[in-house]
Amino acid sequence: MRSQEIRAKFLEFFKERTHKIVPSAPMVIKDDPTLMFTNAGMNQFKEFFLGNSVPKHTRVADSQKCLRVSGKHNDLEEVGKDTYHHTMFEMLGNWSFGDYFKEDAIAWAWEFLTEVCEIDKDCLYVTVFEGSKDADNLEQDTEALELWRKHVAEDRILFGNKADNFWEMGDQGPCGPCSEIHVDIRTKEEKEQVSGASLVNMDHPEVVEIWNLVFMQYNRRANGNLEPLPAKHVDTGMGFERLCMVMQNVRSNYDTDIFTPLIREVETIANAKYGKDEKVDIAIRVIVDHIRAVAFSIADGQLPSNTGAGYVIRRILRRAIRYGFTFLDTKDPFMYRLVKVLADKMGEAFPELRVQKQLIENVIKEEEQSFLKTLDQGLILLDTMILANKGRTVDGRKAFELYDTFGFPIDLTALILGERGYELDEKGFEAAMQEQKDRSRSASEVSKDDWVVLSNDLEQEFVGYDLMETSVKLVKYRKV
Ligand code: ATP
Ligand code: MG
Ligand code: MG
Ligand code: MG
Repeated sequence: MRSQEIRAKFLEFFKERTHKIVPSAPMVIKDDPTLMFTNAGMNQFKEFFLGNSVPKHTRVADSQKCLRVSGKHNDLEEVGKDTYHHTMFEMLGNWSFGDYFKEDAIAWAWEFLTEVCEIDKDCLYVTVFEGSKDADNLEQDTEALELWRKHVAEDRILFGNKADNFWEMGDQGPCGPCSEIHVDIRTKEEKEQVSGASLVNMDHPEVVEIWNLVFMQYNRRANGNLEPLPAKHVDTGMGFERLCMVMQNVRSNYDTDIFTPLIREVETIANAKYGKDEKVDIAIRVIVDHIRAVAFSIADGQLPSNTGAGYVIRRILRRAIRYGFTFLDTKDPFMYRLVKVLADKMGEAFPELRVQKQLIENVIKEEEQSFLKTLDQGLILLDTMILANKGRTVDGRKAFELYDTFGFPIDLTALILGERGYELDEKGFEAAMQEQKDRSRSASEVSKDDWVVLSNDLEQEFVGYDLMETSVKLVKYRKV
């Protein structure tokens, strides 16, 4: 079944069960100071759960565009390395606002997966909240357990602790136990090779979580106490790309028809082959993942920029360009050429991609041109540095200058040095980095904005961005 049909099946299933099908909320959030990007289907319904507003429909379903690159959910570093975490992904969800509760939520989830999707029951596991012995002193979710027992064999029901099976939105507000559904994507033969006990091993990389059913039945008060909610709610989220992987009988989200057209295009552009060399594969996965995050953001009106959400988008795009530059040898703009493929593939479900296609292409191409120039300049400087270097180890402070002044990524420096038989003095680099951080910390103590102007009495010239994934947002200027 093609991804298009799978999405439609989900929505149709819940429509038949009198859910109102609503559009995805924008992925970029403009009016919530606590959240930059939508990271779960429930975000747009937050006010209903908090009781601040009353929903028009008590049953709702949709496919929500999500981005998990900052804050509590940050999957950026997993992307490319594993095959089922994305930056941007679709979360299929069904909700009950004070309407049905555990019984229907569980029965429908099971029916959808095993009857509509025809997933083999022997590949599915479900989890139930085991209770907690902490201050909350919560009981096991026996209600969910009994309901699952109607559908699932006993040895396929596993118990999870608070970290995995109790969901809270924040320090206060609605919360409750959850049940997750996991799919074992190993073949029968592979499963037979391991002993009985380790079959039920949810930490196995090929046992993948696909659907989370949250049962909101408590309210966490400001004093930390839990009280039962007068109206109980259901909030579910299923990874669409993961469901497609299972349905299309492949082992990686990237082998579904959501990603293969993009991968083929990268192969053509870069004259590369996917599936031969792990490093190249990771780069290709990063590129086809990141193009989605960036294109959908621009379609939502968030252009790459120097601050806030725009800066996050710029860094994601540059991360992809860098992977291409390093592992696929792409020295010219190429990411923008993927937009057409993406809009063809996803434009029906998300028309904003088609409407904004030209803008998205132009913005991405310009970003690429300017960043590639930075990389080029950095390379020339690096060459000079290598020529002037005595011995085989290159001074970490020198490498830091390159990084600091030109935004030349340090991992690229290390890679190039390695290729030429040199070694990077990493300790020296770290030390220089730390000093820089200390300097900017004291500078930012007097600055209210999220970037630091090193000098404000002189005219300034913009010279580069801080590209480390882990460090704070910082735009660098120097005196001219
Ligand atoms: P995981 O444990 O795999 O990181 P999660 O528990 O963080 O997932 P939830 O917050 O429960 O995820 O989100 C609901 C569903 O969304 C998950 O069951 C999964 O199928 C999907 N999902 C979560 N994060 C991602 C991601 N980064 N890329 C693709 N799908 C995701
Ligand atoms: Mg996660
Ligand atoms: Mg999880
Ligand atoms: Mg989960």
